[in-house]
Amino acid sequence: MTDAAAGAPEAPTGGEWAAAVAAVRQLPADARVLLICHVNPDGDALGSMLGFGLGLRRLGVRQLQATFPGPPEVPEPFRWLPGLDLLVPQDAAYPDPELVICFDVASESRLGDLVDRLGSAGAALVLDHHASNTRFGGINLVDPHAAATSVVAEGLLDRLGVPLDAEIAACLYVALSTDTGSFRFEATTPAVHEMAARLLATGIRPGEISQRIFDTRPFGAVRLFGEAIGRARLEPGAAGGRGLVWTYATLDDLARHDQPPYVLEALIDSVRCTAEADVSCVVKQVAAGEWAVSLRSKGAVDVSRVAVALGGGGHRFAAGFTGRGSADEVVDRIRAELDGALLAG
Ligand code: AMP
Ligand code: MN
Ligand code: MN
Repeated sequence: MTDAAAGAPEAPTGGEWAAAVAAVRQLPADARVLLICHVNPDGDALGSMLGFGLGLRRLGVRQLQATFPGPPEVPEPFRWLPGLDLLVPQDAAYPDPELVICFDVASESRLGDLVDRLGSAGAALVLDHHASNTRFGGINLVDPHAAATSVVAEGLLDRLGVPLDAEIAACLYVALSTDTGSFRFEATTPAVHEMAARLLATGIRPGEISQRIFDTRPFGAVRLFGEAIGRARLEPGAAGGRGLVWTYATLDDLARHDQPPYVLEALIDSVRCTAEADVSCVVKQVAAGEWAVSLRSKGAVDVSRVAVALGGGGHRFAAGFTGRGSADEVVDRIRAELDGALLAG
């Protein structure tokens, strides 16, 4: 289970699954279908979108595009994924497709400039697993109990009668292993391992995939991580005494080490291991006075509450938001929200 927020959606109903199947099955042969995942796409966003896209291709959908808001660069660890040929820059995406499908997008704000497609498309289908999902589609397959959006994507492919093959499986496996932290997080249920078993049965190589997406980074990024970790601060009194550890990285840091912004996505994993802190935080500069903030908790704090209070979203133990001002000001605001986000027990 990811979130337990009051009013959180339950798993999709039979009617919602049937509506989603019908939306795909009733497409005319010449229909244009546009797939969109969230800004700064991660493994689940790209993997669920491309895996599902390959499935649609197997069903005979010919006019098919995949895209995401912002610069069209795919992070290096994902540049081998099957289905990358479906990707187009946002400006080249169909302006008025018959069907738009969103992957791992909790709210319209995560669609950037592509949000207009929700209005111009014939129909909008949402596949997601964020409890905070605002159900902005005409049809919403939102399962807050799913470990990744790829779980929902596999469920829909299965209902559409698309068999798993190694290409689809590689995409869905990247998505599943990313969002479960390599099958380590609490969301790693028996059903997750059963899905992983189905994916592995297609012949994909888990060692090779893990090395590419988790265990490979340029030496410049290793040095940059060293700097950022070296200036991490531990605040044992924060979060009602559960502790906060945090650090930051600036655009100048990236430039000095000649690294693209996405390399910082993994920095939180090197910070959150701090034994003395329940909550960890990385503040990553994206522009002057603008920071992408990653928050993690080991279980004492609902960091999605902090993120939502500060304009973002996410899951109970992994959340984020966009912060403004200086890094210190952003962390001041987080500190102020932490006590109110403590979980009972
Ligand atoms: P990250 O720290 O970027 O890996 O994100 C952790 C979780 O927080 C993911 O589930 C994201 O969907 C969510 N998240 C991160 N940034 C934002 C944001 N600016 N707005 C809404 N949700 C976010
Ligand atoms: Mn995501
Ligand atoms: Mn996800």
